[in-house]
Amino acid sequence: MDPRTKRILGRISIFTAIAVAATYVTSFSVRWAAGMPIDWLSWVECLVIPIVVGTPIGWYVFSQGEDLQAAHAKLERAHLDLNKAHERLAFNARHDHMTGLLNREGFLHQLEQHRERNDSHVVLIVDADHFKRINDSYGHPKGDEALMKIAKALQYAVRRKDFVGRIGGEEFGILLVSVSLDEGMQMADLIRRQVQCIPWHPDASEAPGLTVSIGGAAMDRAKVADVLRQADRCLYEAKRLGRNRVAFDYSIPAVA
Ligand code: GH3
Ligand code: MG
Ligand code: MG
Repeated sequence: MDPRTKRILGRISIFTAIAVAATYVTSFSVRWAAGMPIDWLSWVECLVIPIVVGTPIGWYVFSQGEDLQAAHAKLERAHLDLNKAHERLAFNARHDHMTGLLNREGFLHQLEQHRERNDSHVVLIVDADHFKRINDSYGHPKGDEALMKIAKALQYAVRRKDFVGRIGGEEFGILLVSVSLDEGMQMADLIRRQVQCIPWHPDASEAPGLTVSIGGAAMDRAKVADVLRQADRCLYEAKRLGRNRVAFDYSIPAVA
């Protein structure tokens, strides 16, 4: 017997037992008050009638209850699944599926959030150097592998409270939270070195290492678009001056 039938029969037994007892009490009280005799037929009637009437009613009511409970549990599960799907969708909408970092939208959202806080932050734009050559020399899959290594190195190089996003194909954005421009510049150079240290051997030959150029700008309360434009200008300058370097407000430190 399946558990559902067992539960229904259990409830019917309790229900009919109560009905039998109630019938005995009511019927015998009425007979006693009316001065009628209580014979063997009264005993049989009081036992059989509630069982015959109560069992199908009990079956109907309790099976409906079971169905309702099952439907409720199913609905709750569907609700949980929907919540999970919603969370997954919200996560996917803000994250880059290849690197697991924030995507452009997620990164811009963080910039907007931090702009409103009364603190000084630094925004970096990090662009992989000569990445087209990597793709051309070793193929797109190896290029993807290199991008994932760079993403990991960036995430490793920053603090837990900072934000890293992939804002373009081979371009990343970093928000250094609560740092001065000077501190931001030092951190940017550490990040650049971290990428330079990535072990990168796409084939047996001595391939040139992975490097990035970084442009940085302070984010006081300026508009996000203006800060990004300024960081982008600095990045362009870092590229122009030979790549694998950091540029903040056009002051270019030498490559170590
Ligand atoms: P520069 O130092 O001036 O930045 O040179 P670059 O070659 O990195 O820059 P360019 O803009 O000429 O080329 C960017 C390359 O990045 C071209 C494109 O195929 C590659 N790229 C962009 N997104 C991806 C990606 O998701 N995977 C791979 N494998 N390559 C990508
Ligand atoms: Mg590039
Ligand atoms: Mg680029």
